[in-house]
Amino acid sequence: MWIDLHTHSSVSDGTQRPAEVMRSAALAGLDVLALTDHDTTAGWQQAADAVAHTGVSLVRGTEISTKSEGVSVHLLSYLHDPQDEALRQFFDRTRASRSGRAQRMVERIAQDYPLTWDEVLDQVEDGATVGRPHLADALIARGYVADRSAAFAHILSPAGPYFQPHWAPSTADAVVAVRAAGGVPVLAHPRSLTRGRVVSDHTIAQLAAVGLAGVEVDHPDHDDADRVDLRALVADLGLLATGSSDYHGAGKPTGLGHCTTEPQVLDQIAAAGRIEILRP
Ligand code: AMP
Ligand code: ZN
Ligand code: FE
Ligand code: FE
Repeated sequence: MWIDLHTHSSVSDGTQRPAEVMRSAALAGLDVLALTDHDTTAGWQQAADAVAHTGVSLVRGTEISTKSEGVSVHLLSYLHDPQDEALRQFFDRTRASRSGRAQRMVERIAQDYPLTWDEVLDQVEDGATVGRPHLADALIARGYVADRSAAFAHILSPAGPYFQPHWAPSTADAVVAVRAAGGVPVLAHPRSLTRGRVVSDHTIAQLAAVGLAGVEVDHPDHDDADRVDLRALVADLGLLATGSSDYHGAGKPTGLGHCTTEPQVLDQIAAAGRIEILRP
């Protein structure tokens, strides 16, 4: 069983439609894929429609933008009720704030690199969650940078002169809301340095106390030492350890299945979630 529990489509900042992500998963030999677009469930139906002909099982999920002690923290939720009102309100508010924030960043960037909001919108599919990767794509289209990684290295960096934050719920509030919606909350890439500071082990313990179910231990942004530390921490706290690629199509170098999750961990996620894993 080959299981990848964190991927993005063009419903947020991935480059492939949900059905194409499912087809790519089949070609890569994956048995189970979780589609986890940022702050939305809009891609679930398209991915679900591809289960039968791709033969890939689907875990419906969302990567929720949150904040903890001023640090941007990503929380994966699996198998939550998509109609849950509290989660929907978080997603709506975050998506609106992401759009305003992207427009403010364009205004700042344009002082040095001429660029319009319409050029960014050309890079975003209708209804998709807007993120810095779409700004990167507009900068690439202008010829200012070669690829998304180059855009993130300076122009889009949180340490750079153009960065603006967006609203997000606190991580603890999001964990509680995910549980109330029947979802299974898993902390995404806690040691990834692309957001500046990382959450402390103390914070992770506090999140465990309010319902956190697991931690993404194996992730392309984690080195061997991070993985050893995190594996010890999740063992201490009695949490699940997951692994995933954080695939973004052509938007990032990492391929599907680059990191994977153990079948018995998936079984525990399935048992704790309100909605079913869709199987062919
Ligand atoms: P945002 O959600 O708007 O703050 O943008 C963060 C998103 O950009 C995350 O989903 C990352 O996967 C993506 N990202 C971060 N660093 C890079 C990079 N160097 N190359 C491509 N994508 C990146
Ligand atoms: Zn992303
Ligand atoms: Fe993330
Ligand atoms: Fe992600």
